[in-house]
Amino acid sequence: MKASEIRRKFLDFFASKGHKIEPSAPLVPIDDPSLLWINAGMAPLKKYFDGRLVPDNPRIANAQKCIRTNDIENVGKTARHHTLFEMLGNFSIGDYFKEEAITWAWEFLTSKEWIGFDPDRLSVTIHPEDDEAFEIWHKKIGLPEARIIRHEDNFWDIGEGPCGPCSEIFYDRGAHLNHTAKSPEELYPGGENERYLEVWNLVFSQFNHNPDGTYTELPKKNIDTGMGLERMASILQDVPTNFDTDLFRPIIDRTAELSGLRYGDDREQDVAFKVIADHVRAVTFAISDGALPGNEGRGYVIRRLLRRAVRYGKVLGIDRPFLHELVPVVGAIMGDYYPEVVEKADLIRRVIRTEEERFHETLEEGLSLLQELVDAAKREGRDTITGEEAFRLYDTYGFPLDLTEDFAAEQGLKVDRDGFEAEMAKQRERARAARGEVSGMRVQGGVLGDLTMESAFVGYDRLEVETRVA
Ligand code: ATP
Ligand code: MG
Ligand code: MG
Ligand code: MG
Repeated sequence: MKASEIRRKFLDFFASKGHKIEPSAPLVPIDDPSLLWINAGMAPLKKYFDGRLVPDNPRIANAQKCIRTNDIENVGKTARHHTLFEMLGNFSIGDYFKEEAITWAWEFLTSKEWIGFDPDRLSVTIHPEDDEAFEIWHKKIGLPEARIIRHEDNFWDIGEGPCGPCSEIFYDRGAHLNHTAKSPEELYPGGENERYLEVWNLVFSQFNHNPDGTYTELPKKNIDTGMGLERMASILQDVPTNFDTDLFRPIIDRTAELSGLRYGDDREQDVAFKVIADHVRAVTFAISDGALPGNEGRGYVIRRLLRRAVRYGKVLGIDRPFLHELVPVVGAIMGDYYPEVVEKADLIRRVIRTEEERFHETLEEGLSLLQELVDAAKREGRDTITGEEAFRLYDTYGFPLDLTEDFAAEQGLKVDRDGFEAEMAKQRERARAARGEVSGMRVQGGVLGDLTMESAFVGYDRLEVETRVA
């Protein structure tokens, strides 16, 4: 089943259950200063969840493009994480609740007319105290007790405001993927195992987290779900990783042509193929939504992804700007649902090309310095590149920290992140002093002061905020 067909089926299914289908919102949040990128299907619908707006139909479904920078380091290493991915979601704004959400999820996944998964391959996690969800899964759906796993983590709480337990649905990809675990519990949730693949998260937002820390039942309960399209495609196309689906393979194949190498021949090269395919998708989409490479915030995310991809290009022996040539391939795959990546292809190509050319000016020199630093560390019996060294590469050669980390890791070394951060802080301080600016903390402090979501800082990309769920 092609990915576009899975997307279509999901939307058709929920339309048949009375949902209004909303188009994907842009990746750059429109009226939400707490978020750097839209990172879940629910994010652009927050206005309905927090009551600022009343939707004309309380049932909504969407296919939403999302960016999660907290997963950058997972890309290419796990079979299932991307920086840009699509979340398929159905939402109830004070309308239906747990019973319908669970029943419909099950129907969509197992009915022959829709996805047609073998029910024996599905298992779920629930919150330990969510007996209601247990009853529905066990009694109504008929899922055996052994495949309903209670897990403390299954609670979605972002501080003050609506929150509640969640239930995640896992697909068993087969015992051959894990030989050591003795029970499903050992494999949950997600973790490093590739056997039980988390495909769908159902969030039952039923409490209000009050300012005094107590929880009370919400008068109108909400449903917020998120299913990963790429993961569904990997199962339905019966391929080992998301990267082997029709959403990624054409990008990888084109990269293989450009490099003269073959995907699948070598583990390290395969990581490079995957990271390049992932990052070029994210960057293409981000630029199509109006973001541009830069030194801060969103711009720096794009720059970081591009530079990281360029460096992985070198791993494949590609020494010239090439990422821009992949933009039309992304367009050919995604353009039917996201026409913006085709309509803006020329602009996107130009931006990427310019950025690549710029980085190539310092790349060679930076890499040879980095190799010297790695060699020196090894000679001196150190297992770490110092913060000052990483900062020098950043400051002089434009090497993002994660690029330096990737390179070091390939040779068995770490990078002193804290030391790097300290150097960054010092540089900011110097810049501020030079500008004579007293309110230098304004941007960060201001944004942080406004946060309504749990924040998880991602490296030195201080404005990044992660929401965990759907
Ligand atoms: P994981 O535990 O695998 O990191 P998650 O629990 O962080 O996933 P949720 O926040 O529950 O993910 O998001 C809902 C769904 O979106 C997941 O069940 C998964 O199918 C998909 N998803 C989440 N993060 C990614 C990602 N980085 N790349 C691709 N799909 C993702
Ligand atoms: Mg998870
Ligand atoms: Mg989850
Ligand atoms: Mg995650």
